[in-house]
Amino acid sequence: MTLAVRAAALDADDPLAVVRDRFLLPDATVYLDGNSLGALCRPARDRVRDTVERAWQQELISSWNSHDWISLPERLGARIAPLIGAAADEVLVADTLSTNLFKLLAVALALNPGRRVILSQSDNFPTDNYIAAGLAQWLGGKRAELRTVTAEALAAADFSEVAVLSLTHVNFRTGAMHDMTALTRRAQSQGALVLWDLAHSVGVCDLALDALGVDMAVGCTYKYLNGGPGAPGFLYLNRRHLAAAENPIAGWMGHRDRFAFAPDYQGATDIRKFLTGTQCIVGMAALEGALTCFDGVAASTLRAKSEALTVLFLDALSAQPHTSTLVCITPLDPARRGSQICLRHPHAYAVAQALIAEGVVVDFRDPDIIRFGFAPMYTRFVDALVAVSALERVLGERRYAAPEFAVRRAVT
Ligand SMILES: *Cc1c(COP(=O)(O)O)cnc(C)c1O
Repeated sequence: MTLAVRAAALDADDPLAVVRDRFLLPDATVYLDGNSLGALCRPARDRVRDTVERAWQQELISSWNSHDWISLPERLGARIAPLIGAAADEVLVADTLSTNLFKLLAVALALNPGRRVILSQSDNFPTDNYIAAGLAQWLGGKRAELRTVTAEALAAADFSEVAVLSLTHVNFRTGAMHDMTALTRRAQSQGALVLWDLAHSVGVCDLALDALGVDMAVGCTYKYLNGGPGAPGFLYLNRRHLAAAENPIAGWMGHRDRFAFAPDYQGATDIRKFLTGTQCIVGMAALEGALTCFDGVAASTLRAKSEALTVLFLDALSAQPHTSTLVCITPLDPARRGSQICLRHPHAYAVAQALIAEGVVVDFRDPDIIRFGFAPMYTRFVDALVAVSALERVLGERRYAAPEFAVRRAVT
């Protein structure tokens, strides 16, 4: 079977093909950057319009009640819950991933009082380690310390002094996916709590946080959940920790009786205790629309398509003559990777720019990595082949050598 026949058959059988029809993708573009900014879908656009033109414009302040703006953080959390294997009341949408990480790391240190080490991976996404180091510094070195090890060292790491193991499930630079089950079990068996960053996992991986007994997790919603630029983050706290956990950024929205305007803080007893201030309702409206596209879509369906897409892409890549100058740094075993393929090339930035000029949108990560993200909600199998053909042209004809592709922009 040729690759084209295989791709056509996979597209014809794709249960998510109908979902793609709800996305507003630009013409003549293969969008492989949904791992950075998910595409716009019609329900997200319509919910924003409705929120602005009907709710805000016409109903003004009463919309907090009539459109139930006030409960959006927990309502949206309940929608994300099935995608990560959590109960509806264990997930809250608010603030940003970075802020939520700060809150939950502080909770973890408080819940594990005999220990002071936050253990992470040296090449974690920078914000994760900045937040942990900043929190440790702010608490004073006696109460907390960030230690980092390489990904390879984690499997044999000693967790006996670790308060919380804080890791990103799918690495943003390589696409490598940790064995969440094995690491969670080992760390917990030695008394550590475990916090997972799901930024590159939610919407493409089949996660089972409750079944596995994960302690806590954070994620963002503008990547594979398609919530829009700067869409809010989310947090998950296993319900066994809820009663003892206290929000380190106590604010009026997390108070158990907000509109009593009481002088003293008393946190809510449910997941709303992790709210701080007023949320961005327009941003939440976009996310609410985007999440309707996941109604009835099982995480296992997303994961199966994601794997099939990356497998097809790599098969097509190896069939081309000029792509041998690329080095794949993503694990070749599909079970050990997320939904992106990362290729190294000495002129990676220019190759990425040349691909974008060919209508294949990818991104670049310092120093020499081109990332191809496969969002199963709207990426077709034929798109993977179009991307490989474009890459072959860019390399074979040295199109990347054009001077305009060497100029670095502010956002890569
Ligand atoms: C995208 C990403 C973030 C982003 O955090 P924000 O607070 O939303 O800016 C954090 N961690 C990881 C692993 C990411 O991939």
